[in-house]
Amino acid sequence: MRLSKADFATDRHGWAEFLPERRVGNILQGTHRVPWVVIGAGFTGLACARRLGELYPDADIILLDARLVGQGASGRNSGFAVAVSQFPGAYSPKQIPEQQRINMINQAGVNLLRSQIEANSIDCQWDESGFHYGAADRYAIEECRNFLEFLDSREVPHTRLDQQALRQRLGTDHYKTGLHVSAGALVQPASLVRGLADNLPENVALYEQSPVLKVQQGVPVTLNLVNGTIVADNVMIATNYEAGKIGFINRYLIGSTLTGSFTRKLTEDELASLGSLKQWGLLSLHGGGATVRLTADGRICLRNTAEYNGGKLISDAGMIERQFIHRKSFDLRFPQLADVPFEYSWSGVEGISRNGTNFFGSQGNNIYLAGGYNGSGVSRGTAFGTALAEYASGGQSKLISNCLACKSATWMPPRPLLDIGAAYTVRSRFKGVGLDR
Ligand SMILES: Cc1cc2nc3c(=O)[nH]c(=O)nc-3n(C[C@H](O)[C@H](O)[C@H](O)COP(=O)(O)OP(=O)(O)OC[C@H]3O[C@@H](n4cnc5c(N)ncnc54)[C@H](O)[C@@H]3O)c2cc1C
Repeated sequence: MRLSKADFATDRHGWAEFLPERRVGNILQGTHRVPWVVIGAGFTGLACARRLGELYPDADIILLDARLVGQGASGRNSGFAVAVSQFPGAYSPKQIPEQQRINMINQAGVNLLRSQIEANSIDCQWDESGFHYGAADRYAIEECRNFLEFLDSREVPHTRLDQQALRQRLGTDHYKTGLHVSAGALVQPASLVRGLADNLPENVALYEQSPVLKVQQGVPVTLNLVNGTIVADNVMIATNYEAGKIGFINRYLIGSTLTGSFTRKLTEDELASLGSLKQWGLLSLHGGGATVRLTADGRICLRNTAEYNGGKLISDAGMIERQFIHRKSFDLRFPQLADVPFEYSWSGVEGISRNGTNFFGSQGNNIYLAGGYNGSGVSRGTAFGTALAEYASGGQSKLISNCLACKSATWMPPRPLLDIGAAYTVRSRFKGVGLDR
Protein backbone atom coordinates (compact mmCIF):
# COMPACT_ATOMS: atom_id res chain seq x y z
CA MET A 1 0.00 0.00 0.00
CA ARG A 2 1.34 3.44 -0.92
CA LEU A 3 0.86 5.75 2.06
CA SER A 4 0.15 9.46 1.98
CA LYS A 5 -0.40 12.19 4.57
CA ALA A 6 -4.15 11.49 4.29
CA ASP A 7 -3.60 8.10 5.97
CA PHE A 8 -2.88 9.95 9.22
CA ALA A 9 -6.17 11.83 9.61
CA THR A 10 -6.83 13.84 12.76
CA ASP A 11 -9.25 16.35 14.28
CA ARG A 12 -9.02 18.99 16.99
CA HIS A 13 -11.34 17.33 19.50
CA GLY A 14 -10.48 16.11 22.97
CA TRP A 15 -8.47 17.45 25.87
CA ALA A 16 -6.42 19.59 23.48
CA GLU A 17 -9.53 21.73 22.89
CA PHE A 18 -9.12 23.13 26.42
CA LEU A 19 -5.61 24.33 25.59
CA PRO A 20 -4.36 27.15 23.39
CA GLU A 21 -4.13 26.04 19.76
CA ARG A 22 -0.81 24.29 19.17
CA ARG A 23 1.43 26.19 16.82
CA VAL A 24 2.59 24.06 13.91
CA GLY A 25 6.17 23.23 14.85
CA ASN A 26 8.97 22.06 12.60
CA ILE A 27 7.98 19.87 9.68
CA LEU A 28 10.75 17.62 8.43
CA GLN A 29 12.30 18.77 5.14
CA GLY A 30 15.44 17.74 3.28
CA THR A 31 17.87 14.91 3.97
CA HIS A 32 19.15 14.08 7.46
CA ARG A 33 21.76 11.57 8.61
CA VAL A 34 21.43 10.60 12.29
CA PRO A 35 22.32 7.71 14.59
CA TRP A 36 18.81 7.49 16.10
CA VAL A 37 15.29 8.25 14.94
CA VAL A 38 12.10 7.69 16.95
CA ILE A 39 8.80 7.44 15.05
CA GLY A 40 5.73 8.49 17.09
CA ALA A 41 5.58 11.19 19.78
CA GLY A 42 3.05 9.66 22.18
CA PHE A 43 4.05 8.48 25.66
CA THR A 44 6.20 5.65 24.27
CA GLY A 45 8.09 7.73 21.71
CA LEU A 46 8.53 10.74 24.01
CA ALA A 47 9.98 8.56 26.76
CA CYS A 48 12.20 6.72 24.29
CA ALA A 49 13.56 9.92 22.70
CA ARG A 50 14.13 11.51 26.12
CA ARG A 51 16.11 8.51 27.35
CA LEU A 52 18.17 8.32 24.14
CA GLY A 53 18.92 12.03 24.52
CA GLU A 54 20.20 11.39 28.04
CA LEU A 55 22.21 8.31 27.06
CA TYR A 56 23.83 9.98 24.03
CA PRO A 57 24.15 13.68 24.89
CA ASP A 58 26.43 14.33 21.89
CA ALA A 59 24.27 12.57 19.29
CA ASP A 60 21.54 14.15 17.15
CA ILE A 61 18.25 12.34 17.71
CA ILE A 62 15.14 12.90 15.61
CA LEU A 63 11.60 12.41 16.97
CA LEU A 64 8.79 12.41 14.38
CA ASP A 65 5.04 12.51 14.62
CA ALA A 66 2.52 12.29 11.81
CA ARG A 67 0.19 14.70 13.64
CA LEU A 68 0.50 17.57 16.10
CA VAL A 69 1.66 16.40 19.52
CA GLY A 70 -1.41 15.73 21.67
CA GLN A 71 -3.61 14.55 18.81
CA GLY A 72 -2.68 10.86 19.06
CA ALA A 73 -4.13 8.56 21.71
CA SER A 74 -1.62 9.91 24.25
CA GLY A 75 -3.40 13.28 24.25
CA ARG A 76 -6.92 11.83 23.96
CA ASN A 77 -7.11 9.26 26.73
CA SER A 78 -8.98 9.49 30.04
CA GLY A 79 -5.85 10.48 31.94
CA PHE A 80 -5.44 7.58 34.39
CA ALA A 81 -1.74 6.89 34.95
CA VAL A 82 -2.21 3.40 36.33
CA ALA A 83 0.16 2.06 39.00
CA VAL A 84 -1.81 -1.08 39.97
CA SER A 85 -3.69 -2.85 37.17
CA GLN A 86 -7.01 -4.58 37.71
CA PHE A 87 -6.66 -8.03 36.14
CA PRO A 88 -10.04 -9.46 35.18
CA GLY A 89 -11.08 -12.94 36.29
CA ALA A 90 -10.80 -14.97 39.45
CA TYR A 91 -7.76 -14.33 41.62
CA SER A 92 -5.12 -16.99 40.98
CA PRO A 93 -1.79 -17.15 42.83
CA LYS A 94 -0.29 -18.74 39.69
CA GLN A 95 -0.66 -15.47 37.82
CA ILE A 96 1.02 -13.40 40.52
CA PRO A 97 4.54 -13.29 38.96
CA GLU A 98 3.15 -11.90 35.64
CA GLN A 99 0.85 -9.46 37.45
CA GLN A 100 3.67 -8.26 39.72
CA ARG A 101 5.86 -7.70 36.69
CA ILE A 102 3.16 -5.60 35.01
CA ASN A 103 2.63 -3.55 38.15
CA MET A 104 6.37 -2.93 38.51
CA ILE A 105 6.35 -1.60 34.94
CA ASN A 106 3.25 0.53 35.68
CA GLN A 107 4.83 1.98 38.82
CA ALA A 108 8.10 2.68 36.98
CA GLY A 109 6.08 4.66 34.42
CA VAL A 110 4.30 6.69 37.11
CA ASN A 111 7.65 7.43 38.80
CA LEU A 112 9.24 8.51 35.50
CA LEU A 113 6.31 10.80 34.67
CA ARG A 114 6.34 12.35 38.14
CA SER A 115 10.04 13.14 37.97
CA GLN A 116 9.74 14.61 34.44
CA ILE A 117 6.76 16.73 35.45
CA GLU A 118 8.64 18.02 38.50
CA ALA A 119 11.94 18.60 36.69
CA ASN A 120 10.26 20.60 33.93
CA SER A 121 7.44 22.21 35.98
CA ILE A 122 4.82 20.80 33.57
CA ASP A 123 1.38 22.18 34.38
CA CYS A 124 -0.89 19.17 33.69
CA GLN A 125 -3.18 18.77 36.74
CA TRP A 126 -1.14 15.77 37.94
CA ASP A 127 -2.85 14.40 41.06
CA GLU A 128 -1.58 11.30 42.84
CA SER A 129 -4.53 10.62 45.10
CA GLY A 130 -5.35 7.28 43.48
CA PHE A 131 -8.46 5.97 41.72
CA HIS A 132 -11.96 4.85 42.58
CA TYR A 133 -13.41 1.66 41.12
CA GLY A 134 -17.16 1.07 40.86
CA ALA A 135 -19.50 -1.85 40.15
CA ALA A 136 -23.22 -1.50 39.39
CA ASP A 137 -24.14 -4.86 37.86
CA ARG A 138 -23.55 -8.55 38.56
CA TYR A 139 -20.43 -9.14 36.48
CA ALA A 140 -18.62 -6.06 37.80
CA ILE A 141 -19.63 -6.89 41.38
CA GLU A 142 -17.94 -10.26 40.91
CA GLU A 143 -14.85 -8.52 39.53
CA CYS A 144 -14.88 -6.27 42.60
CA ARG A 145 -14.52 -9.38 44.80
CA ASN A 146 -11.69 -10.67 42.61
CA PHE A 147 -9.84 -7.35 42.70
CA LEU A 148 -10.21 -7.06 46.48
CA GLU A 149 -8.81 -10.55 46.90
CA PHE A 150 -5.81 -9.57 44.77
CA LEU A 151 -5.26 -6.28 46.63
CA ASP A 152 -5.54 -7.97 50.03
CA SER A 153 -3.16 -10.75 49.08
CA ARG A 154 -0.56 -8.33 47.67
CA GLU A 155 -1.07 -5.88 50.57
CA VAL A 156 -1.80 -3.02 48.16
CA PRO A 157 -3.22 -0.07 50.15
CA HIS A 158 -6.92 0.34 49.38
CA THR A 159 -10.27 1.20 50.96
CA ARG A 160 -13.46 -0.81 50.45
CA LEU A 161 -16.45 1.41 49.68
CA ASP A 162 -20.14 0.55 49.89
CA GLN A 163 -22.90 2.34 47.99
CA GLN A 164 -23.29 5.00 50.66
CA ALA A 165 -19.56 5.72 50.90
CA LEU A 166 -19.37 6.01 47.11
CA ARG A 167 -22.33 8.40 47.13
CA GLN A 168 -20.64 10.58 49.76
CA ARG A 169 -17.41 10.74 47.78
CA LEU A 170 -18.71 10.95 44.20
CA GLY A 171 -22.34 12.10 44.42
CA THR A 172 -23.82 9.05 42.71
CA ASP A 173 -25.93 6.14 43.95
CA HIS A 174 -25.31 4.19 40.79
CA TYR A 175 -22.57 1.88 42.07
CA LYS A 176 -23.56 -0.86 44.51
CA THR A 177 -20.01 -1.46 45.61
CA GLY A 178 -16.47 -0.36 44.90
CA LEU A 179 -13.14 0.63 46.31
CA HIS A 180 -10.37 3.18 46.26
CA VAL A 181 -6.76 2.28 45.46
CA SER A 182 -4.22 4.77 46.81
CA ALA A 183 -1.66 4.40 44.01
CA GLY A 184 -2.01 5.99 40.56
CA ALA A 185 -2.29 9.53 39.19
CA LEU A 186 -4.87 11.54 37.29
CA VAL A 187 -3.67 13.94 34.65
CA GLN A 188 -4.80 16.24 31.82
CA PRO A 189 -3.25 14.05 29.10
CA ALA A 190 -2.93 16.64 26.32
CA SER A 191 -1.17 19.08 28.70
CA LEU A 192 1.16 16.31 29.79
CA VAL A 193 2.23 15.15 26.32
CA ARG A 194 2.67 18.72 25.13
CA GLY A 195 4.72 19.50 28.25
CA LEU A 196 6.90 16.44 27.69
CA ALA A 197 7.38 17.29 24.01
CA ASP A 198 8.27 20.90 24.76
CA ASN A 199 10.91 19.93 27.33
CA LEU A 200 12.96 17.31 25.52
CA PRO A 201 16.75 17.17 25.87
CA GLU A 202 18.44 19.72 23.60
CA ASN A 203 19.88 17.10 21.26
CA VAL A 204 16.38 15.73 20.42
CA ALA A 205 14.79 17.48 17.42
CA LEU A 206 11.01 17.11 17.24
CA TYR A 207 9.20 17.30 13.90
CA GLU A 208 5.37 17.29 13.91
CA GLN A 209 2.97 16.72 11.01
CA SER A 210 5.77 14.63 9.50
CA PRO A 211 4.48 11.12 8.79
CA VAL A 212 6.94 8.42 7.82
CA LEU A 213 5.55 6.94 4.61
CA LYS A 214 8.05 4.20 3.99
CA VAL A 215 10.79 2.40 5.91
CA GLN A 216 13.54 0.87 3.76
CA GLN A 217 15.27 -1.67 5.97
CA GLY A 218 19.02 -2.15 5.77
CA VAL A 219 22.18 -0.81 7.37
CA PRO A 220 21.55 2.09 7.68
CA VAL A 221 17.74 2.37 7.49
CA THR A 222 16.17 4.93 5.14
CA LEU A 223 12.89 6.65 6.03
CA ASN A 224 10.85 8.41 3.36
CA LEU A 225 8.66 11.33 4.40
CA VAL A 226 6.51 13.73 2.37
CA ASN A 227 9.24 16.35 1.95
CA GLY A 228 12.34 14.63 3.17
CA THR A 229 14.46 11.58 3.87
CA ILE A 230 16.19 10.37 7.00
CA VAL A 231 19.05 7.92 6.97
CA ALA A 232 19.49 6.43 10.44
CA ASP A 233 21.61 3.80 12.14
CA ASN A 234 18.77 2.84 14.48
CA VAL A 235 15.00 3.26 14.28
CA MET A 236 12.62 3.12 17.24
CA ILE A 237 8.99 2.49 16.25
CA ALA A 238 6.51 3.93 18.75
CA THR A 239 3.51 4.28 16.46
CA ASN A 240 1.29 1.84 18.38
CA TYR A 241 -1.50 0.30 16.27
CA GLU A 242 -0.32 2.28 13.21
CA ALA A 243 2.96 0.33 12.98
CA GLY A 244 1.26 -1.96 10.43
CA LYS A 245 0.92 0.99 8.00
CA ILE A 246 4.71 1.16 7.67
CA GLY A 247 5.13 -2.61 7.57
CA PHE A 248 5.78 -3.62 11.18
CA ILE A 249 3.99 -5.93 13.62
CA ASN A 250 1.23 -6.08 11.07
CA ARG A 251 -1.82 -7.88 12.49
CA TYR A 252 -0.57 -7.97 16.09
CA LEU A 253 -2.21 -4.72 17.17
CA ILE A 254 -5.52 -3.26 16.07
CA GLY A 255 -7.07 0.15 16.70
CA SER A 256 -10.16 0.25 18.91
CA THR A 257 -12.00 3.58 18.66
CA LEU A 258 -13.36 4.98 21.93
CA THR A 259 -15.57 8.02 22.50
CA GLY A 260 -16.48 10.25 25.42
CA SER A 261 -17.97 13.63 26.35
CA PHE A 262 -17.24 16.49 28.77
CA THR A 263 -19.92 18.61 30.43
CA ARG A 264 -19.53 22.35 30.67
CA LYS A 265 -17.91 23.57 33.89
CA LEU A 266 -20.26 22.85 36.79
CA THR A 267 -21.53 25.61 39.07
CA GLU A 268 -20.72 25.69 42.81
CA ASP A 269 -24.13 24.16 43.65
CA GLU A 270 -23.74 21.43 41.04
CA LEU A 271 -20.26 20.62 42.34
CA ALA A 272 -21.59 20.50 45.92
CA SER A 273 -24.00 17.73 44.81
CA LEU A 274 -20.96 15.59 43.97
CA GLY A 275 -19.41 15.49 47.43
CA SER A 276 -16.31 17.15 48.79
CA LEU A 277 -13.49 15.85 46.55
CA LYS A 278 -12.07 18.52 44.24
CA GLN A 279 -11.33 15.99 41.50
CA TRP A 280 -11.65 12.24 41.17
CA GLY A 281 -11.52 9.42 38.66
CA LEU A 282 -13.57 6.23 38.59
CA LEU A 283 -12.74 3.15 36.55
CA SER A 284 -15.39 0.56 35.96
CA LEU A 285 -14.79 -2.92 37.32
CA HIS A 286 -16.21 -4.18 34.04
CA GLY A 287 -13.75 -3.87 31.12
CA GLY A 288 -16.52 -2.41 28.93
CA GLY A 289 -17.88 -0.07 31.60
CA ALA A 290 -17.81 3.73 31.69
CA THR A 291 -14.78 5.67 32.84
CA VAL A 292 -15.87 8.78 34.74
CA ARG A 293 -13.89 11.77 36.00
CA LEU A 294 -14.54 15.00 37.83
CA THR A 295 -11.76 17.10 36.28
CA ALA A 296 -9.67 19.66 38.14
CA ASP A 297 -11.54 22.45 36.33
CA GLY A 298 -14.95 21.16 37.45
CA ARG A 299 -16.33 19.19 34.51
CA ILE A 300 -17.61 15.63 34.41
CA CYS A 301 -15.96 13.56 31.71
CA LEU A 302 -17.52 10.22 30.75
CA ARG A 303 -16.17 7.71 28.22
CA ASN A 304 -18.11 4.58 27.43
CA THR A 305 -18.07 3.45 23.81
CA ALA A 306 -15.52 1.25 22.05
CA GLU A 307 -15.81 -0.10 18.52
CA TYR A 308 -13.74 -1.29 15.60
CA ASN A 309 -13.73 1.51 13.03
CA GLY A 310 -10.73 0.45 10.96
CA GLY A 311 -8.39 2.33 13.31
CA LYS A 312 -10.04 5.68 12.49
CA LEU A 313 -11.59 8.48 14.55
CA ILE A 314 -15.38 8.98 14.53
CA SER A 315 -16.77 11.71 12.23
CA ASP A 316 -18.56 14.74 13.69
CA ALA A 317 -21.91 13.30 12.53
CA GLY A 318 -21.11 9.94 14.13
CA MET A 319 -20.20 11.67 17.38
CA ILE A 320 -23.77 12.96 17.70
CA GLU A 321 -25.02 9.35 17.87
CA ARG A 322 -22.32 8.38 20.39
CA GLN A 323 -23.32 11.36 22.57
CA PHE A 324 -26.76 9.78 23.14
CA ILE A 325 -24.99 6.77 24.64
CA HIS A 326 -22.82 9.00 26.85
CA ARG A 327 -25.90 10.97 27.92
CA LYS A 328 -27.82 7.86 28.95
CA SER A 329 -24.96 6.71 31.18
CA PHE A 330 -24.47 10.19 32.58
CA ASP A 331 -28.16 10.58 33.50
CA LEU A 332 -28.19 7.18 35.21
CA ARG A 333 -25.28 8.23 37.39
CA PHE A 334 -26.04 11.90 37.98
CA PRO A 335 -29.83 12.52 37.75
CA GLN A 336 -29.30 15.74 39.75
CA LEU A 337 -27.28 17.09 36.77
CA ALA A 338 -29.82 16.13 34.09
CA ASP A 339 -29.94 19.75 32.84
CA VAL A 340 -26.17 20.09 32.47
CA PRO A 341 -25.23 19.93 28.77
CA PHE A 342 -22.17 18.31 27.23
CA GLU A 343 -19.79 20.88 25.80
CA TYR A 344 -17.18 18.72 24.08
CA SER A 345 -17.11 15.19 22.69
CA TRP A 346 -14.17 13.32 21.26
CA SER A 347 -12.92 10.03 19.94
CA GLY A 348 -9.52 8.38 20.13
CA VAL A 349 -7.98 5.15 18.89
CA GLU A 350 -6.13 2.88 21.27
CA GLY A 351 -3.94 -0.06 20.32
CA ILE A 352 -5.20 -3.41 21.55
CA SER A 353 -4.23 -7.01 20.89
CA ARG A 354 -6.25 -10.20 20.76
CA ASN A 355 -4.77 -11.51 24.03
CA GLY A 356 -4.71 -8.18 25.87
CA THR A 357 -0.93 -7.80 25.93
CA ASN A 358 1.66 -5.57 24.33
CA PHE A 359 4.71 -5.62 22.10
CA PHE A 360 8.34 -4.96 23.07
CA GLY A 361 11.43 -6.03 21.19
CA SER A 362 13.59 -5.73 18.12
CA GLN A 363 13.36 -6.60 14.48
CA GLY A 364 16.83 -7.24 13.10
CA ASN A 365 19.73 -5.36 14.68
CA ASN A 366 18.64 -1.80 14.20
CA ILE A 367 14.83 -1.59 14.45
CA TYR A 368 13.09 -1.62 17.83
CA LEU A 369 9.38 -1.53 18.64
CA ALA A 370 7.09 -1.07 21.64
CA GLY A 371 3.32 -0.64 21.75
CA GLY A 372 -0.12 -1.97 22.62
CA TYR A 373 -0.92 -1.63 26.34
CA ASN A 374 -4.70 -2.14 25.91
CA GLY A 375 -5.77 1.02 27.70
CA SER A 376 -2.90 1.44 30.18
CA GLY A 377 -0.38 3.25 28.03
CA VAL A 378 0.05 6.45 30.04
CA SER A 379 2.31 4.81 32.62
CA ARG A 380 3.17 1.61 30.75
CA GLY A 381 4.02 3.37 27.46
CA THR A 382 6.35 5.69 29.38
CA ALA A 383 8.09 2.73 31.02
CA PHE A 384 8.27 0.72 27.78
CA GLY A 385 9.63 3.69 25.82
CA THR A 386 12.34 4.30 28.40
CA ALA A 387 13.23 0.60 28.54
CA LEU A 388 13.30 0.36 24.74
CA ALA A 389 15.94 3.10 24.53
CA GLU A 390 18.07 1.35 27.14
CA TYR A 391 17.57 -2.08 25.54
CA ALA A 392 18.61 -0.78 22.10
CA SER A 393 21.71 0.73 23.74
CA GLY A 394 22.75 -2.66 25.12
CA GLY A 395 21.64 -1.84 28.67
CA GLN A 396 20.50 -4.31 31.28
CA SER A 397 18.04 -3.53 34.05
CA LYS A 398 15.11 -4.96 35.94
CA LEU A 399 12.79 -2.75 33.88
CA ILE A 400 14.17 -4.11 30.59
CA SER A 401 13.90 -7.74 31.72
CA ASN A 402 10.35 -7.12 32.97
CA CYS A 403 9.36 -5.63 29.60
CA LEU A 404 10.98 -8.50 27.71
CA ALA A 405 9.27 -11.06 29.94
CA CYS A 406 5.74 -9.76 29.35
CA LYS A 407 3.61 -12.04 27.21
CA SER A 408 3.69 -10.80 23.63
CA ALA A 409 0.65 -9.87 21.55
CA THR A 410 -0.67 -12.74 19.43
CA TRP A 411 -1.05 -12.68 15.66
CA MET A 412 -4.36 -12.10 13.90
CA PRO A 413 -5.39 -13.45 10.48
CA PRO A 414 -5.25 -11.29 7.31
CA ARG A 415 -8.17 -9.25 5.98
CA PRO A 416 -11.12 -9.69 5.64
CA LEU A 417 -10.91 -12.11 8.60
CA LEU A 418 -8.89 -9.49 10.45
CA ASP A 419 -11.79 -7.01 10.30
CA ILE A 420 -14.25 -9.63 11.55
CA GLY A 421 -11.86 -10.77 14.29
CA ALA A 422 -11.07 -7.18 15.31
CA ALA A 423 -14.76 -6.24 15.52
CA TYR A 424 -15.37 -9.37 17.60
CA THR A 425 -12.41 -8.64 19.92
CA VAL A 426 -13.66 -5.12 20.61
CA ARG A 427 -17.34 -6.19 20.98
CA SER A 428 -16.49 -8.99 23.39
CA ARG A 429 -15.33 -6.35 25.87
CA PHE A 430 -19.02 -5.49 26.49
CA LYS A 431 -20.23 -8.98 27.44
CA GLY A 432 -22.21 -8.69 30.66
CA VAL A 433 -21.64 -4.93 30.97
CA GLY A 434 -25.29 -4.18 31.89
CA LEU A 435 -25.64 -1.10 34.10
CA ASP A 436 -21.88 -0.51 34.17
CA ARG A 437 -21.88 0.92 30.63
C1 LIG B 1 -10.31 7.46 24.65
C2 LIG B 1 -9.12 6.75 25.24
C3 LIG B 1 -9.02 6.62 26.61
C4 LIG B 1 -7.91 5.99 27.17
N1 LIG B 1 -7.74 6.04 28.52
C5 LIG B 1 -6.55 5.65 29.06
C6 LIG B 1 -6.28 5.90 30.43
O1 LIG B 1 -7.06 6.51 31.15
N2 LIG B 1 -5.09 5.46 30.92
C7 LIG B 1 -4.16 4.83 30.13
O2 LIG B 1 -3.10 4.45 30.63
N3 LIG B 1 -4.39 4.64 28.82
C8 LIG B 1 -5.54 5.04 28.27
N4 LIG B 1 -5.76 4.91 26.92
C9 LIG B 1 -4.70 4.27 26.10
C10 LIG B 1 -3.49 5.20 25.90
O3 LIG B 1 -3.90 6.44 25.39
C11 LIG B 1 -2.49 4.53 24.96
O4 LIG B 1 -2.17 3.25 25.45
C12 LIG B 1 -1.24 5.36 24.82
O5 LIG B 1 -1.53 6.64 24.34
C13 LIG B 1 -0.23 4.67 23.93
O6 LIG B 1 0.87 5.51 23.77
P1 LIG B 1 1.82 5.35 22.52
O7 LIG B 1 2.81 6.44 22.59
O8 LIG B 1 2.34 3.96 22.48
O9 LIG B 1 0.88 5.48 21.25
P2 LIG B 1 0.08 6.74 20.69
O10 LIG B 1 -0.34 7.66 21.76
O11 LIG B 1 -0.94 6.17 19.77
O12 LIG B 1 1.19 7.52 19.87
C14 LIG B 1 1.67 7.04 18.63
C15 LIG B 1 2.04 8.25 17.80
O13 LIG B 1 2.63 7.80 16.60
C16 LIG B 1 2.26 8.69 15.56
N5 LIG B 1 2.43 7.97 14.29
C17 LIG B 1 1.76 6.89 13.85
N6 LIG B 1 2.22 6.49 12.65
C18 LIG B 1 3.21 7.36 12.32
C19 LIG B 1 4.07 7.49 11.20
N7 LIG B 1 4.01 6.64 10.14
N8 LIG B 1 4.97 8.53 11.18
C20 LIG B 1 5.07 9.37 12.23
N9 LIG B 1 4.27 9.28 13.32
C21 LIG B 1 3.36 8.30 13.36
C22 LIG B 1 0.81 9.03 15.86
O14 LIG B 1 0.42 10.25 15.26
C23 LIG B 1 0.83 9.08 17.39
O15 LIG B 1 0.97 10.38 17.89
C24 LIG B 1 -6.88 5.46 26.32
C25 LIG B 1 -6.99 5.57 24.94
C26 LIG B 1 -8.10 6.22 24.39
C27 LIG B 1 -8.18 6.36 22.90
